[in-house]
Amino acid sequence: MLGRTLFIDPGRCIGCQACVSACRECDSHRGTSMIHVDYPDAGHSTAALPTVCMHCEDPVAPCAEVCPAEAILVTADGVVQTADPTRCIGCGNCVGACPFGVPQVDPAQKLQLKCNLCYDRTSAGLAPMCATVCPSGALFYGTLEQLTTERPGVSVVTEFAFGEVVVSTGVAMVAPASHRGPVPGGLPLVEVNGRPA
Ligand code: SF4
Ligand code: SF4
Repeated sequence: MLGRTLFIDPGRCIGCQACVSACRECDSHRGTSMIHVDYPDAGHSTAALPTVCMHCEDPVAPCAEVCPAEAILVTADGVVQTADPTRCIGCGNCVGACPFGVPQVDPAQKLQLKCNLCYDRTSAGLAPMCATVCPSGALFYGTLEQLTTERPGVSVVTEFAFGEVVVSTGVAMVAPASHRGPVPGGLPLVEVNGRPA
């Protein structure tokens, strides 16, 4: 599986939205963020969870699979690209197909927009904007070896179960060390303040 990729560690997210601000600065979608932060236990705890495109890969990304215009291309290194504006018809099939709630359609432009792992940066060896600014390490860009050197004992998940369907992803989620098997799909992934999420 993993070469250099993005690791999301929800247990470290402090909900500061620095990633959201940084993503807005990206030249390819200036002014619009392709990452969002959820607060799944709002009002009761400080739990926060950043969501980016997970770059699904099994067998092909669900968004790309349902696109009638073949607007969503997947690069040889597994990065699922934002819709090609010359092909996208803004139908929103990809929005409905994505199990992680990632793509948005801009109705004015009739165009889907989503995180493409800052491909202009990552294809040139740089970290994505979000990982560059994250102050807590909740977004880490590198290899699994680099991650586990920094954070010994963590468990990493790239399989998510949505009912009977298991989706594999190119972006990885950091889970409690005891975790084994696919993570149930949807928001909660780790314990929140000592309680199962
Ligand atoms: S909105 Fe665009 S990218 Fe999404 S399925 Fe329709 S044509 Fe494809
Ligand atoms: S997370 Fe959603 S948008 Fe990203 S590759 Fe998977 S299905 Fe497509």
